[in-house]
Amino acid sequence: MINNKSFEDNIIISDAQQQSSSLFISKDNNDDDGVMKIKKEQPFQYYLCFDVEATCEKGGGFDYKNEIIEFPTILIESTTFEIVEIFHSYVKPSIKPILSDFCKELTGISQTTVDVSPSFPEMLIEFQEFLHKHQLFYENTCAFITDGPWDIRDFIRKQCTISQIDRPSYFSIPWVDIRILFSRFYNCERTNIDGMLSRYGLEFEGRRHSGIDDVKNLAIIAKRMWEDGAIFEVNEDFPKWKENKKSRKRRGKCKKE
Ligand code: AMP
Ligand code: MG
Repeated sequence: MINNKSFEDNIIISDAQQQSSSLFISKDNNDDDGVMKIKKEQPFQYYLCFDVEATCEKGGGFDYKNEIIEFPTILIESTTFEIVEIFHSYVKPSIKPILSDFCKELTGISQTTVDVSPSFPEMLIEFQEFLHKHQLFYENTCAFITDGPWDIRDFIRKQCTISQIDRPSYFSIPWVDIRILFSRFYNCERTNIDGMLSRYGLEFEGRRHSGIDDVKNLAIIAKRMWEDGAIFEVNEDFPKWKENKKSRKRRGKCKKE
């Protein structure tokens, strides 16, 4: 950390922040201690925090045909990381419409809730209206933020196969895995939502494995990382994972603080 005397206030610039070529400064972003933080311009105008819940059985492995039953996304805009709008829908599963007791217990989602919900393709139409309303992935650049690779790489892929639809283009482009970003930015081991929150002295708000609560906590972590100067570059991709699984695993190992 260095003091940069060229600005009016006493600005502390972290080593990571200095590497960016594109900085903007806001006096509205002062810390309680009066230190002005410098926020970097993000590579995307908007981010969609995303975390699905899916049908499951106790011990169900990688080949289990999980069907998406909850689809929550929080839209944040990248100059403030404030929430713009939430899209949240439950989804009715088709091949196994009756939820297991394990699944209901894990996710807190009831049979009645999914029974009266749209199918996945029907829900996607509503979601695409939401994307269209905000011109996301079109006039306005956007990237998903997930906790780990599973939501898009596994659950969306499996669901599109089950629904016999092509994977939408916005789910076929790279996204931000916040676990990877977090471990690289803070130079620590990869950790889950609880582990990431604990860095800021925070506890999980709500119910774990409720998609909407998971995604709200994800948005809290994203905002804290942004306040610390993180750049939300995409770091996870579909085909690369399959091709470079071993090398990615090696890269994931980093020093403990
Ligand atoms: P999460 O985002 O961690 O709440 O998990 C997403 C989905 O992964 C859940 O809705 C389940 O379908 C599946 N899942 C999570 N944890 C387990 C578990 N312990 N056993 C089986 N499936 C799980
Ligand atoms: Mg979840």
